[in-house]
Amino acid sequence: MQYFLDVVLPIPLERLFTYRISAEEAAFMRPGMRVAVPFGKSKIYTALAYRTHQLAPEAYEAKEIYQILDETPLVNSYQLKHWEWIAKYYLCTLGEVLRSALPSAFLLESETLVLPNKDAEVDEMGLKDDEFLIFEALQHQSALKIGEISGIVDKKNVLPLVNRLVQKGVVLQKEELYEQYRPKLVRYVKLGEAYLDEDKLEALLKDLSRAPKQSQVVLSLFQLQAQNQKPIPVSNLEKESGGSRAVIKTLVDKGVLEEYHIRTDRVAQESASGSVEDIVLNSHQEKALESIRASFSDDKTTLLHGVTASGKTEVYFKLIQDCLNDGKQALYLLPEIALTSQLINRLRYFFGSKVSVYHSKYSIHERVEVWNNVLGKAEKAQIVIGARSALFLPYSDLGLIVVDEEHESSFKQFDPAPRYHARDAAIVLASLHGASCILGSATPSIESMDNAKKNKYGYASMNYRYGDVLMPDINLVDIKEATRKKKMKGHFSEKLHEAISETLEEGGQVILFQNRRGFAPIVECTTCGHSAQCPNCDVSLTYHQFRNQLRCHYCGYHMALQEACLACGSHTLDKKGFGTEQIQEELKELFPDAVVGRMDLDTTRGKYAYEKIITAFEQQETDILVGTQMVTKGLDFRNVSLVGIMNADTLLNFPDYRAHERSFQLLTQVAGRAGRTQKRGKVLIQTYNPYHQILQQVTTNDYAKMFAEQYYEREQFKYPPLVRIIKLTLKDKDFNKLNEASEWFATSLRNVLGSQILGPEYPPVARIRRDYLKNILIKMPKNQSIGQTKNSIKRIQKSFNAISKYKSVRLVYNVDHI
Ligand code: ADP
Ligand code: ZN
Ligand code: ZN
Repeated sequence: MQYFLDVVLPIPLERLFTYRISAEEAAFMRPGMRVAVPFGKSKIYTALAYRTHQLAPEAYEAKEIYQILDETPLVNSYQLKHWEWIAKYYLCTLGEVLRSALPSAFLLESETLVLPNKDAEVDEMGLKDDEFLIFEALQHQSALKIGEISGIVDKKNVLPLVNRLVQKGVVLQKEELYEQYRPKLVRYVKLGEAYLDEDKLEALLKDLSRAPKQSQVVLSLFQLQAQNQKPIPVSNLEKESGGSRAVIKTLVDKGVLEEYHIRTDRVAQESASGSVEDIVLNSHQEKALESIRASFSDDKTTLLHGVTASGKTEVYFKLIQDCLNDGKQALYLLPEIALTSQLINRLRYFFGSKVSVYHSKYSIHERVEVWNNVLGKAEKAQIVIGARSALFLPYSDLGLIVVDEEHESSFKQFDPAPRYHARDAAIVLASLHGASCILGSATPSIESMDNAKKNKYGYASMNYRYGDVLMPDINLVDIKEATRKKKMKGHFSEKLHEAISETLEEGGQVILFQNRRGFAPIVECTTCGHSAQCPNCDVSLTYHQFRNQLRCHYCGYHMALQEACLACGSHTLDKKGFGTEQIQEELKELFPDAVVGRMDLDTTRGKYAYEKIITAFEQQETDILVGTQMVTKGLDFRNVSLVGIMNADTLLNFPDYRAHERSFQLLTQVAGRAGRTQKRGKVLIQTYNPYHQILQQVTTNDYAKMFAEQYYEREQFKYPPLVRIIKLTLKDKDFNKLNEASEWFATSLRNVLGSQILGPEYPPVARIRRDYLKNILIKMPKNQSIGQTKNSIKRIQKSFNAISKYKSVRLVYNVDHI
């Protein structure tokens, strides 16, 4: 009897691949275990067992597997079903889903690079012979491919060996170099080592008697210590001593004080400090909770529509408690940028060590740890909070999924495949487990609200902020008028300028928002109109003052800023548009005493950068925070009483059918950062177009009107949720070939789907990273079978792939969210 195993390889193959296994292996094998397999000429991959059978493949001679890597399955049947749905729905391969779903530590392959772990203290005696060989080899070489390790130990299958080395911390995988933590870092101070000695301390105090401010700081430190405050945050010391940061810094420089950081999100909370039972909901929350529970018992996905600061989080906590009481697992899903340590700490306060965080930016080890805990249904991972990749964990008994900020477009993964939408995939996952699913937002997406109105989803709303806090007072400022009357200081209208002054005088903090899309200043020649273009992409280069460079935001190309126009040579270069950097500069002039922080892609690149900026603002070390989209999400700053939007127009004018919906959501969310305590918050929106209907709807907080108008427009122009939409993008470096290929594809589609096919057309940016792009849109009526349509598309793709001259053309599908 012959035995065969079908596996999923973590590469974009349309089908499963079949290997030969022995009878013993067949008896041992279960779906979801990993196996090391040879593939192609000389590659080794980690693949996932899918099923065993006795049918030899017809098209090729099945090779033998190298080895089974797991004792028990690493992936369960819920996951496989869910991943198959994702592959089918989003038109990609199961292998692509696998690669995205498993932490890379689980997917070693011959091309994986292994590096020495320089920080590890390696117990050389504890290493086996083959392990030591690799350890030694890595003392002389900076990196080894798995294939090369094979050569060194003269063994074909070395994945178990490398797995052991990774586990012992002797080696690292290449990917780890790019990882980035986002822990919350709080700055603390203590007395410098040298002064722990009493005599020295006495001498110091004598010394400082001539510097009263400094001695006040030191005395305050003692006082705080006496009050049993340990550790002591820098901000507390500042408040207690009335000393400025400069004085503290002087003391640190002298070595009298020592500064250190603690990552608060990693401080494992052994037991919860509070109990969810003790959260007293107000009547709006209570009512919402009851209707959610009722709708859950009808097995309905439920939309919670609650204005900013209405207390949605507390309602989620009650639902999570319900889920735990049933002994089931809960998943709390958030967009990446809303996953803040503020929220994690709030969750840990109530649920202690039951909370695990799963984040693509966490280290491989941490992710593997969470995976194993979820797989073992450990209590430690009964609640998982994470961004979209947390959907892929091995839950076996999910009772609840919370999708917070469900309207957020960053739930959609655009690159690489699977190009899935995490909210929609969450709803499917919940139904596979028979779990409940709650979608929450202050500004629900049009499609979710549509589903609620059609009774497909349950619906609950909360229209008041918690604790009788008023909704912010939102006003529009006409900057066209202000410019005409010469009442602008740089990019600040008189009104905004005054409001900032007042707020700062009262000791409040300010958030200023500048949209990322309007972020880019372009350098244009006023003589000939030329602006420098990216050689690889179809966009103008943008100016970065900090490095005095012109940069491309699509491919990273950059060059030094030239003195003269590259086209005509004249020196009449003018900077158009403005960014966060420029606002920060202007603020320094207008408010020289204010401390200004900036949060955008440039300032949040490094390790810890993001958390440092947030923490500094939270602890009121910064007065004004200037930022892009990053400042809009889920942050709860108590002391912000003014939010300014520098320019709303770049948002509104973006060429996308969702631009208006997104503008409403974004502006409402930014505005929601203002006045979250008793004092009513103020919001000023600067615009050239104060009569725009969306801006009117934002100021009156009129979601219903926004929904009605947008819905009408989508009906008129046939956009989701009234039709289904798939976008096919073709890419190639050869312009003519791309055009020919996309005509071919569009024509074939038209033969089957007729007028549902639009295009091919060039997108607004028609060349990226040297690739030309063309889009074909498929808009199908809702009652048409989506499965059949996708089958037709796949069939056409098959014929397309068989045409050899189109071999280099790449196809990218985006389903629903384009
Ligand atoms: P949302 O998520 O709707 O924006 P939050 O859940 O952050 O709102 O609530 C806003 C503020 O009100 C938070 O500081 C929160 O702690 C507080 N809050 C909300 N509900 C309650 C409650 N039932 N008891 C005590 N504090 C609450
Ligand atoms: Zn010129
Ligand atoms: Zn470029």
